[in-house]
Amino acid sequence: MSLKPGGKPPYFPFVAQKLTSSAPIRHGGPRFPSEATRAGAAAVEANAAAVTDTATDAGRGGEHRTPWATLAAPKLRVLIVDDELALTRSLARVLASHGFGVVPVGDGAAAIAALQGGRFDVVLSDIRMPTMDGVELLRALHTLDPDLPVLLMTADPRVETAAQAVELGALQYLLKPVPVDDLVLGIRRAVEHSQTLRRQREALELMRENPLVEGRADLAIHLDRCLATLWVAFQPIVRSGDGSLFGYEALLRSTEPTLPHPGAVIDAAEKLHRIHELGRRVRALAAESFAPMCACDTPDGAAGPLLFVNLHTRDLLDPSLTDRSEPLARLAHRVVLEVTERAAMDDVGDVRAHIATLRAMGYRIALDDLGAGYAGLTSFALLEPDFVKLDMSLVRDVHTSPLKQKLIGSMTGLCKDMGMQIVAEGIETVEERAPLLDLGCDLMQGYLFAKPGRAFPAHVWP
Ligand code: C2E
Ligand code: MG
Ligand code: MG
Repeated sequence: MSLKPGGKPPYFPFVAQKLTSSAPIRHGGPRFPSEATRAGAAAVEANAAAVTDTATDAGRGGEHRTPWATLAAPKLRVLIVDDELALTRSLARVLASHGFGVVPVGDGAAAIAALQGGRFDVVLSDIRMPTMDGVELLRALHTLDPDLPVLLMTADPRVETAAQAVELGALQYLLKPVPVDDLVLGIRRAVEHSQTLRRQREALELMRENPLVEGRADLAIHLDRCLATLWVAFQPIVRSGDGSLFGYEALLRSTEPTLPHPGAVIDAAEKLHRIHELGRRVRALAAESFAPMCACDTPDGAAGPLLFVNLHTRDLLDPSLTDRSEPLARLAHRVVLEVTERAAMDDVGDVRAHIATLRAMGYRIALDDLGAGYAGLTSFALLEPDFVKLDMSLVRDVHTSPLKQKLIGSMTGLCKDMGMQIVAEGIETVEERAPLLDLGCDLMQGYLFAKPGRAFPAHVWP
């Protein structure tokens, strides 16, 4: 490694300053009194107060003031470590005149005592001192506070010390006598730099402790935008017997590009604990579109298509779901609530009781995604659904899979025994439809008949 006086690295850390100022701080002369070392932090603070007060007076109206001085609030506290008394005093005076709070000490041990006894924003240390040199001090300071910025001063720059200093994180390597403006600027930058590092480290620690903190604010903004532009698509469900319309499934749609499909929206709402808000919005929109279809219904006579609405299992805990004045509740006799077996129902408490309340309101229940490989039979027993929807993974290429045909055959048999209607979803081809018709699926849904679309898409029966 080479140490080039005046050469600046691309990022702030390590600069060997050239001696250019017309008013450098000279070195040499008497050494710092050894009592300072023994006296400890309290005595040093008292000594420092005297030094800085005098220094401030001396510095009033002084020529070395930079614009920084006017910005110095709150006061930054500098610990100066140097065994040369005259230099330390003059440094203290100059820095105080620039608005710094200064504590001078004569060696490494006193520096450590001072740091243990009070807060400092930066340490300015000589490299060559008796008992503990600047590099050793740097090592000790690192263990006390890894973020505390340290600027090392020397009259005798050597490559080895420079390398060690960099390794130990010294932020700057100043050549004595130090130009005042460079010193003041160096201290300010060192403090800023280390504050940035500290904030970054704290943010990283916070993220490690709680990964949700990351991007949480952004996610909330995206979900807000999504909810503001949310709309509901409807996909026809048709009867297997004659291909006539049986109902529509409501599917949420977002125009927010960062949440491009229902899974992403639901995921965001889960992370932000806003599932209820999302569910209410979907139900309100679906009810608004569907209400005109129910306009001719009488209390004891309702004919016409049904509306299938997806619920998140956590929606079962939302009091608004069982509020009879809610728009969807008024259409309950025409609504089938789909509960997916994908989401665990463990944290919903008494699922049976929730379902019984919804049934009492007139809703019917569908078990969604049966066969997706989750808690199928448990959900069956818990929900005692009116409809069972076969997951599209069972439907896909069913005509080429005897195993899928067997599975679907046994499920349709079971559902018929229990008085449940079975819906095959995700049918894309006439080849897939053929075995499903033979196996007794009552209802069908898929791109073969109609894709989901704005209220209300027409369907075909090819
Ligand atoms: P799901 O309830 O099983 O809905 C069926 C999904 O299959 C829909 O996807 C639909 O667009 C898609 N689909 C229908 N026919 C076909 C087909 O022939 N081929 C293929 N490849 N796909 C077909 P979508 O709309 O992306 O919804 C995905 C899932 O997101 C839904 O699965 C449901 O679990 C959830 N979801 C959608 N809307 C809502 C909602 O409003 N609330 C809640 N809680 N979940 C919703
Ligand atoms: Mg569904
Ligand atoms: Mg499904």
